[in-house]
Amino acid sequence: MKLVSRDTNPDGTVVEVKNIRIGGREIVIMAGPCAVETMEQLSKTASIVKEGGASILRGGAFKPRTSPYSFQGLGDEGLKLLGEVKLMTGIPVVSEVMDPRDVENVARYADILQVGSRNMQNFSLLKEVGDQRNPVLLKRGMMATLEEFLFAAEYILSRGNPAVILCERGIRTFDPSSRFTLDLNAIPILKERTHLPVIVDPSHGTGERRMVSAMSKAAIAAGADGLLIEVHYHPEHALCDGAQALYPEDFILLMADLKKIADAVGRSIHVPNLDH
Ligand code: PEP
Ligand code: MN
Repeated sequence: MKLVSRDTNPDGTVVEVKNIRIGGREIVIMAGPCAVETMEQLSKTASIVKEGGASILRGGAFKPRTSPYSFQGLGDEGLKLLGEVKLMTGIPVVSEVMDPRDVENVARYADILQVGSRNMQNFSLLKEVGDQRNPVLLKRGMMATLEEFLFAAEYILSRGNPAVILCERGIRTFDPSSRFTLDLNAIPILKERTHLPVIVDPSHGTGERRMVSAMSKAAIAAGADGLLIEVHYHPEHALCDGAQALYPEDFILLMADLKKIADAVGRSIHVPNLDH
């Protein structure tokens, strides 16, 4: 692999989003609901995560659901809500794009384009996000090897977009105790092989709220550059992934612990700009 290999940038790549540096000394927390549902849900959750210390808001407008009968996301309407909440709170946004035809539109609202686990090897989509300039958060395919993951990132870099953030989100498991097995081995292995920032999604990696804090802390201790965490102001009412969404109070407690762990590994948590 030519472009993603650590040798091409031994100091490591820093991806910059609105003055937030991902891949540097500071750890960046991205949090928010699985899916954009309503203005009230999004704006309330955005305030909670921002005040709690998240620097980037997550929220899907296009949702890749296993069943075609499940809530598929609000689509364009969801993007507009993200745009409004961004204006209100000043927090940058990461949101998933599933279809190459939607890349331009999603990029108008989302500061970071997310390519989901199920699309990690959608090569047309990888080329399309590689042809535009917004940073890309690339999630590991749930059945992909780390080599396949890195080749997917190579597709994006080879089209001219160097701003790729890798996200470990759990791999298929034989054990029904959790939704996936969060592969924390991926952090040191990826750090050795590539210069790209590596973050972890403990929400999909576990599938259950009660495991999310422990895995978040473990990921930071293991050297992750950031976390992507699902938080909902009212998880019981979530239209998607409510069981793994942290309650606001869980998120606040977790952030306090993460600060201590970051400190123990010689790093700190990026503090969002609260005066907006
Ligand atoms: C998500 O983060 O919204 C998501 C659908 O995750 P994944 O692609 O990892 O399943
Ligand atoms: Mn989700």
